[in-house]
Amino acid sequence: MSEPAAESSRDFAAAPDAFQRLWTPHRAVYIEKGQGAHDDDCPFCSAPDKTDEEALIVARGVHAYVLLNLFPYNPGHLLVCPYRHVASYDRATPEEVAEIGSLTQAGMRVLTDVSRAQGFNIGMNQGTVGGAGIAAHLHQHVVPRYGGDSNFFPIIAETKAVTQLLGDVRIAVAEAWPSSPAGESPNP
Ligand SMILES: [Zn+2]
Repeated sequence: MSEPAAESSRDFAAAPDAFQRLWTPHRAVYIEKGQGAHDDDCPFCSAPDKTDEEALIVARGVHAYVLLNLFPYNPGHLLVCPYRHVASYDRATPEEVAEIGSLTQAGMRVLTDVSRAQGFNIGMNQGTVGGAGIAAHLHQHVVPRYGGDSNFFPIIAETKAVTQLLGDVRIAVAEAWPSSPAGESPNP
């Protein structure tokens, strides 16, 4: 497994830096949850209230966060969700769209680094008829694709139970993730 590249981490930190000046992260999250009809039964609403380990969260942004899919299509399968309970991509705010995009990019770089992913499938299933498992809360899939067997995630996938695998994958991805744009601890 390769070490996180210092050079790419600096690149990541530079892009979302503008958010620091424009937003108070905790307040923004609180307000958006209030406006977005926080649904206690929605796993993507409740996940951010849990620890990173419990919720399989690998990164927390200002408007959106990233967690491992509990039912991965491939090891390392990430979901990028806005904190706000919003179903449709065309109802996401420009800030949410921007951060879902930047977190998706960061996820691709991290997975390329730590698991040597050779390709990706990225996208959103919109609405139940569109194939969304949790249709009420927007989430972008980032699915790494592997051409061969000699990479980290598939190897542990073959030798460990699913919960153990997810925990190990979460640690690997979270540790390789660039610094939080808001300067928050990634493990509150
Ligand atoms: Zn929700």
